[in-house]
Amino acid sequence: MLFEKIGTSGHEEVVFCHNPDAGLKAIIAIHNTVLGPALGGLRMWPYKTEQDALDDVLRLSRGMTYKAAVAGLNLGGGKGVLIGDPSKDKSEALFRALGRFIDSLGGRYITAEDVGIDVNDMEYVLKETDYVTGVHQVHGGSGDPSPFTAYGTLQGLLAALQQVHGNEDVGKYSFAVQGVGHVGMEFVKLLREQGAKVFVTDINKEAVQRAVDELGCEAVALDEIYDVDCDVYSPCALGGTVNLDTIPRLKAKIICGSANNQLATEECGDELENRGILYAPDYAVNAGGLMNVSIELEGYNRERAMRMMRTIYYNLGKIFTIAKRDGIPTYKAADRMGEERIAQMGKIKLPHMGKMAPRFLGRQRGNQ
Ligand code: NAD
Repeated sequence: MLFEKIGTSGHEEVVFCHNPDAGLKAIIAIHNTVLGPALGGLRMWPYKTEQDALDDVLRLSRGMTYKAAVAGLNLGGGKGVLIGDPSKDKSEALFRALGRFIDSLGGRYITAEDVGIDVNDMEYVLKETDYVTGVHQVHGGSGDPSPFTAYGTLQGLLAALQQVHGNEDVGKYSFAVQGVGHVGMEFVKLLREQGAKVFVTDINKEAVQRAVDELGCEAVALDEIYDVDCDVYSPCALGGTVNLDTIPRLKAKIICGSANNQLATEECGDELENRGILYAPDYAVNAGGLMNVSIELEGYNRERAMRMMRTIYYNLGKIFTIAKRDGIPTYKAADRMGEERIAQMGKIKLPHMGKMAPRFLGRQRGNQ
């Protein structure tokens, strides 16, 4: 049954990592490595059942394949899940034991931070393997990806404005931004710099106050964000907020934000299409964080990272073209773009590891 499941989802390899002395129970899923090594974050979560953990890692790793493919990166899709409570189950032994499993994969899977994991946990993983990104700057890491993700989201927005209005005058439009956290606040800053009218909401009242006082935004209540009379709805908090209850309330003609998994179901993507609302697919828009860590593989360079964010603009343009070409909603067009790239690149058989920084090519361990 397990082989049937991973066969259907197209996974290449699923690794169950177990070390009872370290309290380690983790699953690493490598979905597709046609474009390059599978890169994807490690998530620590108190999954109720092992089946829940498996389902999550299979779903998330598959998503990474599409995200990397659409972003134009030489990376495949993978993900790791660590079963445990991040508030009480962390230890040096746990992360070092996991680091050894990651190392044993010889670079087919490269890890990074995700929910429940921080830069200190990654330092332990780094003691056992070089196949880690998103570590502290002193180890050649790229630091907080949020400003890059926000700048990338702006590139996606410019492409969407161009598609709908034929111009990119951000300042002429109004925005409803849900969530002013790490990415949302940076994104709002970029919008306000261009003079746009911005409505914000967040469960964190202090963050909202800061957006009002320091950036000149207008605050609205949590549930009112869907009813705001604006041009763009920008989900920058949670997934699933574009659903059959909220869609009829939206006045915006564009949805573009940084949140993952914005559409509650695929049907919602079809519904947006029927209503003439342009959906800028989330994983294409928010690829800035992944692009940023991908540069660590070749030796991190901040200027190069900022330049790479600009490709999000062109990627969105390609998605809109495919949607028109094939008469399909944009969320399907994004998947198709990823699948077409994997098929084409698979034919020319790229070398697996591409060009990599010395850190990723047999660096002597133990000195970091
Ligand atoms: P964050 O936790 O810093 O910010 C999220 C904000 O949303 C917080 O301020 C939180 O209070 C708020 N929030 C939570 N529930 C809310 C609700 N019901 N209504 C309104 N606000 C609510 O996270 P982040 O790093 O800014 O990421 C934001 C989104 O972008 C997430 O979906 C994340 O997965 C996605 N994303 C982030 C990055 C990145 O580089 N940080 C990259 C890709 C995708």
